[in-house]
Amino acid sequence: MIRAFALALLAAIMFLPAALAADLPFNFTDSYRLVVPYETEALVPSEDGLAQACGTSSVIRACTVFYARRMDCRCLPDQNHWHIHARAQFIPHIVLSPTAALQHERMHIAEVRSAVTEHLIVLTSIDFASSVDCEDEGRAASEGFPSLMDEFQRRSNLKHHPVYVPQALETDRK
Ligand SMILES: [Zn+2]
Repeated sequence: MIRAFALALLAAIMFLPAALAADLPFNFTDSYRLVVPYETEALVPSEDGLAQACGTSSVIRACTVFYARRMDCRCLPDQNHWHIHARAQFIPHIVLSPTAALQHERMHIAEVRSAVTEHLIVLTSIDFASSVDCEDEGRAASEGFPSLMDEFQRRSNLKHHPVYVPQALETDRK
């Protein structure tokens, strides 16, 4: 029963990204915003269910999957330059076995959140001489955001679980 619920939750989450962007407008007057509207947790009682939800064949106790990873950029001028204004988002989904620690997964989420915020600060601080240069960089930043988040997730795993990292990109392994 619990496993069926977890799978239903996953299915529901996968349809969220388009609706989410519409529900959470950002008018781009601020330089940047990181939106993490909520997190979800699913308790999975069996090792099989956990491995399936986390997309791994390794023996693990928990993982966090980041859904709806997206960054939107807009270029606005000040007196001398053009600057990127950016809105980034993700939704963490924690999948746990009964023996796993929720706080440990939240620590990984906090590290990823900090890394994304630092990236937004750097990106929105760049001075561009032209709108074209700014828009090119903004487009590249948006397109590269999911793989950049893969890298932030990988770094957090590397810091705490160096043994698992060669295989673990999208999931956290305990
Ligand atoms: Zn971990």
